[in-house]
Amino acid sequence: MFLPQKIESLPATSVLTIKRLKSLGIQTYWDLLNYFPSRHEDYSAISPIGKVQEGEKVTIKGRILTVKNNYVRKRLTIQHITVSDGTGTITVTWFNQPFLLRLFNPEAHISISGIIKKHGKLIIEPKEYEILKNADQDTVHTGKIIPIYPAKRGLSSRTIRDKIFSVSSVLKEKRGNDFEILPETIVKKHRLIDESLAYKNIHFPKSNVELEQAKKRLAFDELFIIQLSAKLVRLHWEKEKVGNLLSVKKYQKKIDEFVSSLSFTLTAGQKKVIKEILTDLGKKHPMNRFLQGDVGSGKTVVAAIGSLVSYLNGFQTLFMAPTEILAGQHYKTLLSLFKNTPVKIGLQTASKKFRKDADIVIGTHALLTKSVNFKKVGFVVIDEQHRFGVRQRAILKEKGSNPHLLSMTATPIPRTVALTLYGELDLSHLDEMPQGRVPIKTYLVPNQKRFDGYKWILEKVKKERAQVFVICPLIEESIVETLQSVRAATKEYEHLKKNVFPALRLGLIHGRMKSKEKDEAMNKFKEHQYDILVATSVVEVGIDIPGATIMLIEGAERYGLAQLHQLRGRVGRSDKQSYCLVFTDSNDPARLDRLSFFAKNINGQKLAEYDFKRRGPGNLYGVEQHGYDSLSVASFADYALINETKEAVTGFMKTYSLEKLPALKDRVDLFQVHRIAQD
Ligand code: ADP
Ligand code: MG
Repeated sequence: MFLPQKIESLPATSVLTIKRLKSLGIQTYWDLLNYFPSRHEDYSAISPIGKVQEGEKVTIKGRILTVKNNYVRKRLTIQHITVSDGTGTITVTWFNQPFLLRLFNPEAHISISGIIKKHGKLIIEPKEYEILKNADQDTVHTGKIIPIYPAKRGLSSRTIRDKIFSVSSVLKEKRGNDFEILPETIVKKHRLIDESLAYKNIHFPKSNVELEQAKKRLAFDELFIIQLSAKLVRLHWEKEKVGNLLSVKKYQKKIDEFVSSLSFTLTAGQKKVIKEILTDLGKKHPMNRFLQGDVGSGKTVVAAIGSLVSYLNGFQTLFMAPTEILAGQHYKTLLSLFKNTPVKIGLQTASKKFRKDADIVIGTHALLTKSVNFKKVGFVVIDEQHRFGVRQRAILKEKGSNPHLLSMTATPIPRTVALTLYGELDLSHLDEMPQGRVPIKTYLVPNQKRFDGYKWILEKVKKERAQVFVICPLIEESIVETLQSVRAATKEYEHLKKNVFPALRLGLIHGRMKSKEKDEAMNKFKEHQYDILVATSVVEVGIDIPGATIMLIEGAERYGLAQLHQLRGRVGRSDKQSYCLVFTDSNDPARLDRLSFFAKNINGQKLAEYDFKRRGPGNLYGVEQHGYDSLSVASFADYALINETKEAVTGFMKTYSLEKLPALKDRVDLFQVHRIAQD
């Protein structure tokens, strides 16, 4: 690996700083070099002190004339120095930084970057400073385009800059072929700059052009490595042998019979995806397929047909859902789908022992960690997951069967993102809704219409026996539900019950309830013992209550559109007209525009693209939930570069062998280790 030195060997670095760097995930010089600035400040204009003008952003250099410390009052001290360079003298002031006095000695050479202000006379408001050994010493923090790093965990941008600067000087000495990861022909063809130069210039560019070239080079590397890595995983998987070979041809008639026994006709989209899956299932190497399909597009029956093939061949299916509620729901759905067949369906819960005799075992993702072996497993379905990774595939292999794998999600993911990030998987897309669905009507309800909204709901419940979800605002974006969100939901529930809908029956559900309590609340709602279910966003994924026809979302502006879409998908699951009321207190035009776009559009893909273009993938679904591994330099919105790198990877695979390019191999390995850690 390039620059594998541990940060412990950084010169003049305190133990505390090392500890803090480590808490940012920085272990080696290489990691440090890959900690990119969030922006740059241009302090490259160096001005004689006598020539500075009010408002200028400049660097001045000179010698310290005087140093003074003024005690003003408790908690306020002022540090003044005067600096002169022969053309003039200027005063510089800091507040509450007495430690500076130790650095600032009269006669010392100093360089200061800041803004020129007028307080009677011209002064410089310092942003960055540094003491120099002599007038000609190279500067790090001033007099240049300066990188600004996100200050975190007690580390200032300055400290990080210092450390990266010292590492980047090693880089200059080391410049040479051992650092370049790409073959020269690729570098030339795509007009990339030298890799070591890119690493230097992403931190310390001399001009904006240099910075842009560095970004392009590193973005190219990033996308190249992601896609190359995916291709390699794919090649590797294609060489694997499936544990339990399935025959599809032999059972085609039985499959057709099953399809005709269904109470509905498959959509053309379902037929297309089923065909893709059946083709895969007949192969000697395991399927790795990722099925994307909007809420309600009918993914479950597609998975059921795969399960049937596994059963007909004498093997089991594992069917995994993210929560016990969803597992329970799949259990009921599959029972009904298979009711005219001998297929035995088993529901695995936290407390129950693994059912070895069931043909389809349904449970949460915890099934994978069960200490049972899966020798008899022919097919595995993972519902509501963005992707499965190398690690999950390896677990299944270890447990004995190396089965065919299908993961499914209703989360809309822009196509370019899916193709780039999930390149190792085959993608299927259900882009059609079953016929006869009545499109949900969505209304944006500003605060002043809140009361009318409630009145309208009350009437719907009284006259049409409508059932209503009330979703509370996202308080904090977090993977687990925070206590704060739970409290807010509880409060909202009390409020609605007491002040708004005293005549109606209300229930409450949130993520901190025991799964038994959750089930109970869900069931009561399903059996129409509640008119209104107040919930945190736990109901987001997959819950099926056909009787619910009104979805009220509070604080809607806090949710990503993809997430709102998931929530809206909880209604409209019957032939009745359903409604989604989007409540917001926000008056911000951009936010309101976004919400009206949501109100007007029912296509999940379109909504995801909308947010994606404006906010970037990291913000689509809230922290971590999105499942996109965030990019550090490249952008998913950069279609041109994504395509360019994709072609470069295809060309590379034809011409080169990774084994002969150790620097690139190292980088691909490193990427895969990181990615597996996230699986
Ligand atoms: P999702 O893709 O969100 O998981 P489901 O598989 O839960 O969707 O299907 C939603 C509902 O649509 C279920 O009640 C299912 O029985 C029904 N369904 C599935 N396919 C069709 C179809 N082709 N025609 C009519 N209804 C269908
Ligand atoms: Mg589903």
